[in-house]
Amino acid sequence: MKAMQYISVGEAPKVVDIPTPEPRGEEVLVKVTAAGACHSDELVMSFPEGQLAALGVRLPLTLGHEGAGVVETVGPAAQGVEVGQPVVIYGPWGCGVCATCAGGDEQYCERAAELAIRPPGLGAPGAMAEYVLVDHPRHLVPLDGLDPVAAAPLTDAGLTPYHAIKPVLPLLVPGSTAVVIGAGGLGHLGIQILRELSSCQVVALDLGEEKLAFATEVGAHHAFASDESAVAKIREVTGGHGAAAVFDFVGADPTCALAAQVVRAQGEIIIVGIGGGTIPVGFFTLPYNVRVRAPYWGSLPELHEVLALARRGAVHVETERFSLDDAPTIYERMHARTLRGRAVVVP
Ligand code: NAD
Ligand code: ZN
Ligand code: ZN
Repeated sequence: MKAMQYISVGEAPKVVDIPTPEPRGEEVLVKVTAAGACHSDELVMSFPEGQLAALGVRLPLTLGHEGAGVVETVGPAAQGVEVGQPVVIYGPWGCGVCATCAGGDEQYCERAAELAIRPPGLGAPGAMAEYVLVDHPRHLVPLDGLDPVAAAPLTDAGLTPYHAIKPVLPLLVPGSTAVVIGAGGLGHLGIQILRELSSCQVVALDLGEEKLAFATEVGAHHAFASDESAVAKIREVTGGHGAAAVFDFVGADPTCALAAQVVRAQGEIIIVGIGGGTIPVGFFTLPYNVRVRAPYWGSLPELHEVLALARRGAVHVETERFSLDDAPTIYERMHARTLRGRAVVVP
């Protein structure tokens, strides 16, 4: 089968021919119909060898951690899914047995590292291929009428903002403001989820006119350039108070510094982007009682909720389609910040 693999450190990924895997035990083989490209792919490809090894990533790695497809064959012990069933793949696999997994938050599994369980596309072979092996049927969610191309990105670009936003909803009362920094793959869904689940005002920050126009198209009330001038603009549209919640989908030092300047007392900063930025927490560094969190991906029950939102048209993914052969060019476009919404590989 064809697969797009990251083969050697520092080099662009390549489309290669590799053997089609066969499911054993409880594994399920999925014929891929769509695979989204995440900025985290680019991040992984920027790591030096030592850091990759520390994360349990071995090369060559088939990329793609946002997958949709159709069940092709099932291992002898796999139960609960049927051949031919259209599904999306839940990516942050855990052991399924520890107390955290039992509580539904597999993405924070207590034993994943010890058991060398890695998400597909971020350690295990991913979905940017004609077929992908899924370790257990519980990691498949029926598409139930959703278009696979529009649904594949919901497994990360939809699920991650949803998991970041849901616990903050009590702060997002009428009259409050949420700031979304970075209106890309995750951010454009974050804006829509905020609009759907709360009545807060949504302010988006990004770089460049096109990105700002895109942010308002998908529902932001205001969109401002992500620079020092944003601080005064956010003060102005919040009556001088600042934002109850700031979702940083870039997570670099400059955006973290902005977040700290625009959050209001008792508010929350949620660092979702993996740009290496940090925010000091302590007296007189932030307004009183501000919380700062860095959540990871989302839970399986939350993925069901995100798909339910999409089924009734409350959120939609803006996609740009690429063939598997053209997939390596996605990361050049991502780097140049010229993608609109999510790039999706359609094998
Ligand atoms: P993306 O490339 O689709 O979008 C990033 C957006 O940020 C673009 O619109 C870009 O123009 C904008 N941007 C860049 N620099 C900016 C700045 N200084 N100020 C404001 N906007 C800026 O990326 P994505 O796939 O949406 O991923 C976003 C981030 O989230 C990445 O760092 C990725 O690694 C991370 N991520 C984290 C998790 C998690 O579990 N926490 C999950 C998925 C992705
Ligand atoms: Zn991702
Ligand atoms: Zn576990």
